[in-house]
Amino acid sequence: MRINNDFAMNEKYLFIETFGCQMNVNDSERIVTMLADSGYTQTATATDADLILLNTCTVRGGAEEKVYKRLSHFRSLKKAKNSLILGVGGCVAQQEGDHLLLKFPWLDLVFGTHNLHLLPELVQGAEKGERRCETAFIDNEERLDLFPPVKGASRLSRFVTVMQGCDNFCSYCIVPYVRGREISRRSEDILDEVRQLAGEGVKEVVLLGQNVNSYGLKTADEPDFSRLIRSVGAVEGISRIRFTTSHPKDMSDELIACFADQPKLCGQIHLPAQAGSDAVLARMNRGYSRAAYLDRIHALNKARPGIAITGDMIVGFPGESEEDFEQTLSLMEEVRYADLFLFVYSPRPGTKAAELPEELSREQKVERLERLLGLQRRITMEINKSYLGTLQPVLVEGEGKRPGQISGRADSGRIVNFPGDPALIGSFVMVRIVAAYQNSLLGELQQSM
Ligand code: SF4
Repeated sequence: MRINNDFAMNEKYLFIETFGCQMNVNDSERIVTMLADSGYTQTATATDADLILLNTCTVRGGAEEKVYKRLSHFRSLKKAKNSLILGVGGCVAQQEGDHLLLKFPWLDLVFGTHNLHLLPELVQGAEKGERRCETAFIDNEERLDLFPPVKGASRLSRFVTVMQGCDNFCSYCIVPYVRGREISRRSEDILDEVRQLAGEGVKEVVLLGQNVNSYGLKTADEPDFSRLIRSVGAVEGISRIRFTTSHPKDMSDELIACFADQPKLCGQIHLPAQAGSDAVLARMNRGYSRAAYLDRIHALNKARPGIAITGDMIVGFPGESEEDFEQTLSLMEEVRYADLFLFVYSPRPGTKAAELPEELSREQKVERLERLLGLQRRITMEINKSYLGTLQPVLVEGEGKRPGQISGRADSGRIVNFPGDPALIGSFVMVRIVAAYQNSLLGELQQSM
């Protein structure tokens, strides 16, 4: 199905496949906006495309293999249509560079994480038969001017990038090497973008960065993240603010206070612990202890009772003993995550952790993962059931999966489906929760707000 159905002669179509995190989703939206000015309309069907881009991620294991498989798959399309342009961007492109052009002779262009702005030029060259790779890092203020705002996606909730890169060097993570050092955007540029989005009818903004909590700390004359949130909250037309991702060590008291006194800030936070044992946290170079993490969790619960906390947990990190693993289980019980993204550790080449000896077999890691999954399923279900009978304010974002239903998100981020008129899409309504499932809630419409 095409996203734009105006099929006209000479129109060019872009198919973009996005791997990994929300930063990449946001980058892909920016790519679509940029290439619209070069005459490309997004299509959801690769076979219709004149340009296929893979926006890649290397955070989890097996990323390169997935990208290589997709490139091999698209080779047949290239054979059928010689003018088709094929490109790879994002973290795999940053890491592999022009090796990709050598390895895949049918690939036309490679662009790194700091080179999105060069895409129109690279595509123009590829249209004339040029094959190019651009992966130069831009680790100065120039990078701040390279954030083309996303246009034209008529959605109610939109990402706004506030910072890029990371200085934390967690021992398992490739991000600082492929995304570069941390740089914060100018607050005035961010606020201009938020005002523009509000003018387009956007109701919710999700402030985005690898570590939003350290926004502004290394930039002279810029507010810190808590002050940025207060400024975004003052923008008329924006009703909800969320942010991701947070680092526990930078979760300041001022930021936590926003959950108490900023009603537009939703009662939801993604605060990855990654492990429950101090020994593993130290080997991960996370920069906080279990006690310090729990201190932040207790402060958040105090500031916004009932806040929905989500996180990430890595299982089977090098040297993780059964005792370490049990500390992860007990941390989960103590925090009571609304949801948790669980990952089996696999070494990322180029990181410090990749040099650590691995003692656990794949089977042992998977067995531990199953135990974490079972526990988290129980906790999530208990939390979802706790909403039964409550009234939840919901921003209606679209039609539900079942006929006659519409769907939106509660303040906690939970998906709520309920019978209702699609004319309500875009409005806030009060919904009484009548059933709880693992991944969503079912409600009955009470009133429009
Ligand atoms: S905080 Fe750690 S895990 Fe997150 S992006 Fe930075 S280095 Fe990676």
